[in-house]
Amino acid sequence: MLDELRSLRSLVFPPACLGCGDSGAIICVHCQKLFATAPTRSQVDHLPLLISAKYQERTAGIVLAAKEAGSATAKAALASALLGPLEQLLSSGTAEKVALLPMPSRASANRRRGYDHSAKLAQAARDLIAPRWPSVQFDVVPIFRHNRRVRDQTGLTPKERGENLHQAFSLDPGQFLRLAGQDLLLLDDVVTTGATVREGVRALKLANLEPLAVIAACASPRYFPLR
Ligand SMILES: [Zn+2]
Repeated sequence: MLDELRSLRSLVFPPACLGCGDSGAIICVHCQKLFATAPTRSQVDHLPLLISAKYQERTAGIVLAAKEAGSATAKAALASALLGPLEQLLSSGTAEKVALLPMPSRASANRRRGYDHSAKLAQAARDLIAPRWPSVQFDVVPIFRHNRRVRDQTGLTPKERGENLHQAFSLDPGQFLRLAGQDLLLLDDVVTTGATVREGVRALKLANLEPLAVIAACASPRYFPLR
C-alpha cells in the first residue's frame, strides 16, 4: 500500500529514500549498500550471530518501513539482507535440513499490522535462499509462542527488556515435530540487546534443543567489532 501511494506520489514528487530521506529512489543505492556488505560474525552469549548490517538511523528507517508501514520494497531489502548471513553459515557447515525459526512478534503488533512480520520475513528469506542451495531442505517453523502479554521492547532499557521477556516464550506443540532432525536457525530482523534471542534459546533448551546460530538483518553496534 505504502509503495503504491509512493509510486502515485512519485508522478508529482520524486520518492524519498526510506533510509536517508534523499530524493530519487524508495531505497537509494547508498542505503542498499548498507545491507550488501559482507556479513559480520558476532555472538549473543556463546551463540554465533551472523549479521548483514549495523542497526543505525538509516537501516532503522528501512526496518520501520517494512514492519510498521508495510513497504514491500523495505520488506524485500530485509529479506535479501538475510541472504548473505545465511549463505555464510551454510558454506561453513554440512547442513541438509534447516529450520528457520522466526522470533515472534507480539500478538497485538500482528493484529495491528494485519500480518505476522517475522514469519513473513522468514518465508521471504527461505524463498530467496532455497533455489540457491538445492541440496538443502529449508523449512520455516513458527515454533515460538508468547506465554503471556509482553510490552513493546522499544524504549525499554536492556534490563527491562530482559525482564519483559523473562520466560515469555514457549514452544508450539503443534509445530514441535517439524523440528526433528533439522539444524535450527533463529531468524530476526534486528538484534538489539539479545533479550529475544536469549528467551528463544531458553525455551528451546527446555525441550533439549539447541539452535546452531542466529541470523539477523541488523544488529546494534555492540555486536560489531571495533575497527
Ligand atoms: Zn538512502
